[in-house]
Amino acid sequence: MKNNKRTIPLIPLRGLSIFPYMVIHFDVGRNKSVNALEEAMVNDSMIFLTSQKEVRIDMPTPDDFYEVGTVCKIKQMLKLPGDTIRVLVEGINRGKIRNVIQEEPYFEVEIEEYVYDKTIDDDKEIKAIMRMVVDSFEEYISAGNKVSSDVLISISEINEPGRLADVISSYIQLDQEDKQKILEAFNPYERLEILHVILKEEIEVLEIEEEINNRVKNQINKVQKEYYLKEQIKAIQKELGEDKDLGAEVDKYIEKIEKIDMPEEVKEKSKKEAERLRRMSPSSAETGIIRNYLEWIIELPWDIETKDRHDIKKSRDILDEDHYGLKDVKERILEYLAIRKLAKNMKGPILCLVGPPGVGKTSIAKSIARALNRKFVRMSLGGVRDEAEIRGHRRTYVGAIPGRIVSSMKKAGSKNPVFLFDEIDKLNSDFRGDPASALLEVLDPEQNNTFTDHFLEAPFDLSKVMFITTANSLNSIPRPLLDRMETIRISGYTEAEKVEIARRYLIPKQRKEHGLKENNISLSDNTIRKIINDYTREAGVRDLERNIANVMRKVAKRIVEDKVEKVRVNTRTLSNYLGIAKFTRSETDRENQVGLATGLAWTVVGGETLSIEVTPMPGKGKLQLTGKLGDVMKESAMTGISYIRSKTEELGIDEEFHINRDIHIHVPEGAIPKDGPSAGITMVTAVVSALTNIPVNGDVAMTGEITLRGRVLPIGGVKEKVLAANRLGIKKVLLPWDNKKDMDEIPDKVKRNIKFVFVKTMDEVLDHSLVKEKK
Ligand code: ADP
Repeated sequence: MKNNKRTIPLIPLRGLSIFPYMVIHFDVGRNKSVNALEEAMVNDSMIFLTSQKEVRIDMPTPDDFYEVGTVCKIKQMLKLPGDTIRVLVEGINRGKIRNVIQEEPYFEVEIEEYVYDKTIDDDKEIKAIMRMVVDSFEEYISAGNKVSSDVLISISEINEPGRLADVISSYIQLDQEDKQKILEAFNPYERLEILHVILKEEIEVLEIEEEINNRVKNQINKVQKEYYLKEQIKAIQKELGEDKDLGAEVDKYIEKIEKIDMPEEVKEKSKKEAERLRRMSPSSAETGIIRNYLEWIIELPWDIETKDRHDIKKSRDILDEDHYGLKDVKERILEYLAIRKLAKNMKGPILCLVGPPGVGKTSIAKSIARALNRKFVRMSLGGVRDEAEIRGHRRTYVGAIPGRIVSSMKKAGSKNPVFLFDEIDKLNSDFRGDPASALLEVLDPEQNNTFTDHFLEAPFDLSKVMFITTANSLNSIPRPLLDRMETIRISGYTEAEKVEIARRYLIPKQRKEHGLKENNISLSDNTIRKIINDYTREAGVRDLERNIANVMRKVAKRIVEDKVEKVRVNTRTLSNYLGIAKFTRSETDRENQVGLATGLAWTVVGGETLSIEVTPMPGKGKLQLTGKLGDVMKESAMTGISYIRSKTEELGIDEEFHINRDIHIHVPEGAIPKDGPSAGITMVTAVVSALTNIPVNGDVAMTGEITLRGRVLPIGGVKEKVLAANRLGIKKVLLPWDNKKDMDEIPDKVKRNIKFVFVKTMDEVLDHSLVKEKK
């Protein structure tokens, strides 16, 4: 690069920069500038143009303009009206002020002129940066559209690096400062680099601008479109005579939704549904579906919670007030409530009340709600086999409704009720999905705060609910469910307890329900006992209550019809009210008989006595079992037969009985399916009796599993079984030795009625059950 020194007139430019190779015109008005122009024209038409740092300054001093500027050739001058002159100039070389020679009547400066370097560099780096700059420039053009695309063609022909930078710079819109930066870069490579950075920044800004523009445009379009569509709907509805406005209704829904404290998600969803309604024709069927949905949402107890009573003493009073006896059960419940009081947020286990029907499981759950001052809802799971019953149907179904959980919550009217799942052991599962797993989610404190119903399509918080379940037996409860629960057993009542329950609870309750006063009726304890023994056969008191209700109904009728004041129901007149006795204790049943033994069984409805009949017949050793027996019971019978075969000599039985006799074992008594190994010793006793012709003592009942070698193994459900024996008036009960521990549970009154014998072997069983004299 060659540098020349020269003295030259100067014009400071406002808001304008000129690059070499640039051809541009501008207007000159200031006196000093006009003087400079004239001086230039007198000489070689060359002038030095540099930019003012501040556009506003009218009379700049040398400090106010940049040192670096462009030496230009004046191509044309045109006098405009007024004192203005329009000049056309072409940029030639860069120059830098070395000396200011004069400031009046025009600026004259000594500059160093950098003669344009026209060499074409073969350097790879230069080539690379040139290409990059051209690419960026192209991008700049396509992003901004501010430069005619013809320019690109002329630019692609430039192969001098410095010139390329200058030409491109003259086409882009830049700040004064940026332009000056490019101008001051004397080295072509540096100049290209600076330009490249600036171009990239510019492109980014342009893109952001574009984006914002589009967004604004879209918004405007959408608003316009919606407005247009709504107007169209209105017009159509008007045509159809349906212009009754749903708007007011929607507003009311939204207002209600806004007032309820529900999860934001649900709020948004239901508001959206309401808005959907606004756009609908009032006669369309879908409006009904949406209304139904919104009504459900509004009526659910999202934010309604009752305040718990934490007074344990008061809770105890309430439990006692509602139920007789059940001391252990109440104690367990109070403990449970106490723990809940201490650890308020503890996610306690779920109580499961297990026992035969009519022992008060449901009513004690109700009582717990009363003791806690909570609302109570009950949902029976008996026969629930469809998951949709629990989770509801999707709204796309015609007539869809929420599942029973959500419906029950609405019924409860608070988000923290006591929620009773009745008969959890009766839950079915089949192809329609597995209700047990849905239930598992409901009962799981980790998941149930976002229980999702298919109908609501929104989570409902069940975590504040106190769940209680009931079951007749634990056997058929799915294991994972059972693991979640703390079981409390209620086994059944003795006759004396039933009398108390009747006198203190059932009779006053039924009397009131039938509109009778205390002195309208008298029912003696003996009469109650007769109802219990002759009209019911149950572990609980459900039939007893039903029979008492029957008596009350008839008494009420008599009081109204016969105009009597008081009705006395005694043991003799009872049949006038309840008909003939249903379960007389048939004395013949308890005579000593050959081939008939009394066993004790446990069924889901409580303890039962079981008569086992055996008849041997001439035949080929076939064993026949009838009376709805399960597989375990059949196996148990075969084990018993094998045991007898190994003992024929001692027992005095024909050694060949298993070859020349058929044995038929029958277990009568209703259609109740019976299973389990606990009838083992009873079957053996009956078979031995039949084969030896020695009668079985009719006052004896027994239960126990038998092994091949004649050992007696323990069984379950002792309390229920003993209570059943007691109901039947059995005098002596044989129990396996290992069940001795269960005697704690047996009420003292029963212990006084029955003699218990604990046996280890089958020999002992036969000893105590076969009638001795004949042996
Ligand atoms: P479950 O749910 O066990 O089948 P329920 O709760 O339906 O039994 O009870 C049947 C009836 O017997 C109810 O009216 C109940 O109040 C009454 N009941 C049961 N046990 C008792 C008891 N210990 N004291 C008072 N009433 C009882």
